[in-house]
Amino acid sequence: MKAIFDDRQWRHDPKHFISSGAIRPNPEQPRRIEILRAGAEGAGCAFQAPADAGMGPIAAVHSAEYLTFLETIYPRWRRIEGAGEEVIPNIHPGNRSDSYPKSAVGQAGYHQADTACPIAEGTWEAAYWSAQTAITGADLISSGEARAAYALSRPPGHHAFADMAGGFCFLNNSGIAAERLRAKGFRPAILDVDVHHGNGTQGMFYDRDDILTVSIHADPERFYPFFWGHAQERGTGRGLGFNLNLPLPRGTGDADYLQTLEVALQRVRSFGTDALVVALGLDASIDDPFQGLAITQEGFARIGAAIAATGLPVLFVQEGGYISDTLGVNLTRILSGFQGGV
Ligand code: ZN
Repeated sequence: MKAIFDDRQWRHDPKHFISSGAIRPNPEQPRRIEILRAGAEGAGCAFQAPADAGMGPIAAVHSAEYLTFLETIYPRWRRIEGAGEEVIPNIHPGNRSDSYPKSAVGQAGYHQADTACPIAEGTWEAAYWSAQTAITGADLISSGEARAAYALSRPPGHHAFADMAGGFCFLNNSGIAAERLRAKGFRPAILDVDVHHGNGTQGMFYDRDDILTVSIHADPERFYPFFWGHAQERGTGRGLGFNLNLPLPRGTGDADYLQTLEVALQRVRSFGTDALVVALGLDASIDDPFQGLAITQEGFARIGAAIAATGLPVLFVQEGGYISDTLGVNLTRILSGFQGGV
């Protein structure tokens, strides 16, 4: 399988993560790259660098205001006397629809949903190339050059809205890839198997009927992202019925997960999908530090096989999945399962 990655994605190296009021090391570490890369190579992936498709495909789903913020905020932040080393908001507006703040602190509050998306010197460059990695993956699929591809997009993307970062995510790589496929004449669906609901992706396409969004995740009643991901969120306007959330109780294992995956894949087929973007979080693993669901290594292989059974062209876009003893092997297993292995 073809795989895509750019070395500039190493440049995002977040330090801080505030969890339940405690400052902890940020789990979205660059070291994930070497683990995931080895895991993909274990499934026979051959890596190439992405092309540079420019800002167009990114700006197709993100607001220009937000992209200006991401690209310019760090040097502006550093000019604040006594500022910390990373852009982390200390204000969160309850209502974002009125005026747009001029100040760096105000804009950080406007564009960052939580404290889990700190921005430092290399963040924009890494996020930009993470998105380009997904775009090249979409182009490999749309050109027919590959029937399936793996984009090692890191930092991840599915918590990023059109104009808001959150949960380790800045640019919505899966959403950008799906929109790229749509622009090339496809009818794409996004299947999000990350343990966390793909709230940014849902928000981005919530009023649209030309890209289907489906997410299987730990029930957000007691799990990040809390405010999104409930079963009753089905889309709005033209998009009503084109968003499907399948929340699962904490600790759900392989058997129940695979049954739910069949529900998701039935919806994907009924949409008339002709290209599938899999938002590939590996944090549903029983070994993941977030402990949301309990998928085994064998379970990941079976998820890969079930996705392959759709017969669709598939772009896997890396989302979450944090450092544990099985992070790499879980990637190997799902990609191998997809390719007919075990
Ligand atoms: Zn996640």
